[in-house]
Amino acid sequence: GKPKVVVVGGGAGGATAARYIAKDSEGEIDVTLIEPSRSYYTCFFSNLYIGGFRELDSIEHSYGTLAAEYGINVVHDWATGVDRDAKTVALAGGGSVPYDRLVLSPGIDFVEGSVAGWDLNAQNAMPHAYKGGSQTELLKAQIEAMPEGGTFVMVAPPNPYRCPPGPYERISMVAHVLNTSNPTAKIIIADPKESFSKQALFEEGWQKHYGGMITRIGPDFGGGNVTVDPAAMTVDIDGETVNADVVNVIPAQKAGHICDAAGLTEGNWAPVVPQTMQSRMDENIHILGDATNQGDMPKSGYSANSQAKVAAMAVRGALTGSRVFPAKFSNTCWSLIETNDGVKVGATYEATDEKIAKVDGFVSQTGEDAALRKATYEESIGWYEGITTDMFG
Ligand code: FAD
Repeated sequence: GKPKVVVVGGGAGGATAARYIAKDSEGEIDVTLIEPSRSYYTCFFSNLYIGGFRELDSIEHSYGTLAAEYGINVVHDWATGVDRDAKTVALAGGGSVPYDRLVLSPGIDFVEGSVAGWDLNAQNAMPHAYKGGSQTELLKAQIEAMPEGGTFVMVAPPNPYRCPPGPYERISMVAHVLNTSNPTAKIIIADPKESFSKQALFEEGWQKHYGGMITRIGPDFGGGNVTVDPAAMTVDIDGETVNADVVNVIPAQKAGHICDAAGLTEGNWAPVVPQTMQSRMDENIHILGDATNQGDMPKSGYSANSQAKVAAMAVRGALTGSRVFPAKFSNTCWSLIETNDGVKVGATYEATDEKIAKVDGFVSQTGEDAALRKATYEESIGWYEGITTDMFG
C-alpha cells in the first residue's frame, strides 16, 4: 500500500507538516493527523484578544479543510505512546495507528514544581494562559473583573520557553486594558531572567504609553525567588508578600509529554538533526516546533511552521524519492505594545551538522516614528492570515 505518515499535534508545526505532505505528495502518501481538540486556538494573537484587538472566534481554527480538501485522516484523540520497534502510535481511546514516518509537534508542557506553590490544579485560580483557548479566556475575564486600583502579577518564565516576547507583549496588552478601564491599577512582573526579548523596545513603550503602571522585579531584586499561594491569592517575591487580584503564572517549560513517553528527550527537550528535523534518537521520527532542541531559532509559531516545511520535504524525499533541497528557515516575532505601535524581531537560518544556525537578523529600533510602527503592526496582521492559511488550508 501507500506509505503512511502519522502526525501528532495539529498546531503550528503539525498542521503545516500534515498539509504540506498531503498536498505535495498528491495522494501518494497516506496522512493521519492526531489532535485531541476540534478547535485550535492560536496562542499567537491571543495577547491581542486579551487587549481587545481581536475577537476570540478570529483566533479559532478547525480541521475541516485539511480533511475535506487534502484527504488527511484527522483523528480527534490523544497519542499516549509510541512503539518505535513496531512503528505504531497508541491512542487514548484505544487501538494504535501504524506509520512509516512519524511527525511529533506536541508543543510544550510545564516543568512541575518550577514555581513554588503552583501546580496544574491551581490553573483556574492563577492561570498560565500559555496554551490557547479556555486559559486565555479565563485570564481576560479575570483582568476585566479586577477591582479599582487592583494588582496584576505576572510570574515570568526562565529561558527557554515558547514565544520569547510573549509575556512582555501580554503585559503591554494588560496595561492597555487597565489604562482605560482601571487606571490606578498596578502591574508587577517577577522575572527570573536578567534580560528579555526586545527589552529596550518594550521598556520605551511602557514608559511612553503606561508611565508608572508597570514594575518589573528582575533577578537582582529577587524576581526569581517567588512562591505563590493560590488559595490566599498572594505572591511572595523574595520574602515580600504581595496581595494580588490576578496572578498569571507562566511556569518553566519542556517538550510536550509524548516526546518523553517515546524516549526522545534529553533533559527537557527533544534533540533533532537540523537538515531534516529527524530525532537524533530515531530516524523514522521527525520532531518540530517548541518541543525541539534545535539551535538558534526561538520557539515560535513562525519557527514551527518553517521547520514543518523542511520536515515535509524530507519525509516526502524519504518515502517517495522526491527532491530534497538544502534546509532554509526563517522567523519573525511581532509584538503589539499599544494601538498601532507594533515592533518585530526576526532572522534567517541554515542547517549545519550541529544546529540550526542563525545567518542574518533584524530588529525594530527605539525612537521609530508612528507610521513605521503602524506599518509593522499591519504586517503582523498579514502574517497571521498567511500562517493560519498555511496551516489549515
Ligand atoms: P502547538 O501549536 O502548541 O501545537 C501542539 C498541538 O499538539 C496542540 O494542538 C495539542 O493539543 C497537540 N498535542 C499535544 N500533545 C498531544 C498528544 N499527546 N497527542 C495528540 N495531540 C497532542 N508565535 C509566533 O510565531 N508569533 C507570535 O506572535 C506568538 N505569540 C504568542 C503569544 C503567546 C501568549 C504564546 C503563549 C505563544 C505565542 N507564540 C507566537 C508561540 C506559538 O504559539 C508556539 O511557538 C507554536 O504554537 C508552537 O507550535 P507547535 O506545533 O510546537 O505547538
